[in-house]
Amino acid sequence: MIYLDYQATTPIAPEVATAMRPWIEERFANPHSPSRWGREAEAAIEVARRQVEAALGLKGGSLAFTGSATEALNWALKGRVEKSLAGRNRIITVATEHAAVLDTCEWLAGRGVDLTVLPVQPDGRLDLEPLERELDERVALVAVMQVNNEIGVIQPVAEVVELSHRAGALVLCDAVQGFGRVELGDGPDLVAVSAHKIHGPKGIGALWMKKGSEPAALLHGGGQEQGLRSGTLAPALCVGFGAAAKLANERRMADRDHVERLWTAAVDALGDDWIVNGSSTHRYKGNLNIRRQGLDGARLISDLRDIAFSLGSACASGSGRPSHVLRALGLDDRAARSSIRLGFGRYTTADELVHACRRIARHAVAQEKLDA
Ligand code: PLP
Repeated sequence: MIYLDYQATTPIAPEVATAMRPWIEERFANPHSPSRWGREAEAAIEVARRQVEAALGLKGGSLAFTGSATEALNWALKGRVEKSLAGRNRIITVATEHAAVLDTCEWLAGRGVDLTVLPVQPDGRLDLEPLERELDERVALVAVMQVNNEIGVIQPVAEVVELSHRAGALVLCDAVQGFGRVELGDGPDLVAVSAHKIHGPKGIGALWMKKGSEPAALLHGGGQEQGLRSGTLAPALCVGFGAAAKLANERRMADRDHVERLWTAAVDALGDDWIVNGSSTHRYKGNLNIRRQGLDGARLISDLRDIAFSLGSACASGSGRPSHVLRALGLDDRAARSSIRLGFGRYTTADELVHACRRIARHAVAQEKLDA
């Protein structure tokens, strides 16, 4: 099996598995209990928290662990609406956001929040002018992602922050796909990340909160995480997240160079007749979302079962719905269905990627001949 679905999830790093093992097999204490074992677990969690914070590199805030980035995004959106001042009842977001943001915003709109979903340009980037026009003293929050999960396009987060802050609105950034890979820079007030996209375990995410921007609690109970997110933390998952973040931080440059080399090798191996979906310049290069006229992407995936790749997001692939992201770029259903996403990274070798791309290209040509 050649794994080319790095945006859906990434393989666990060996160092992460090693760091987690004792916390699964032996060190089972509750990290919130006052026993010595409990304290040791708590100390390990605090080390992990610092490691994730260091990889994020943001100043003047704190980080709370959550069960996923989906939870972090739900919490940030719902909890900020709850806390926002009277008169600030608007949320602005972007058409290409992940469902964890878009569906939560729709849910809030159903409860009286005034929602604006901004379109993107054909290259997938947000146009700042409509944002500037929409921003007023009623906007509580602007939610914009850093790197898109389907097309890898990088949004102008710093510019969004500047405009939003000028209007007195907070910025929530879904940094799930860029974390540890693409520099975020100080600015966003709330940042959501997830461990399993950086070679850590599934089932753990985090919300970084600038001091003073903390959302109201979504989960109530034991008062863990500064009273903001109740629920017993899982030391093994926290330690795994910390180890993955530390590794990503240390290997940031090496990983980036590797991914850029892979991108070039993949584009060469695929040959002509493929169009890259979304900007080629403002892009994380570990995401190659491409289309070919007349291609049936779903058929290609089922023809090549020993290569793991996808149509877009794992959620979009499962539903059979054409991707909302590709539609937002202006692609019609046909063009969206003829698109595939290849995702690669730290543990992908150039040889396996080239081999997979050549087979994909051959099968695409064969499909074309069969359909002619
Ligand atoms: N945001 C983006 C951009 C993602 O790619 C994902 C995962 O697919 C999520 C949010 C949700 O992350 P999690 O799987 O931790 O809930």
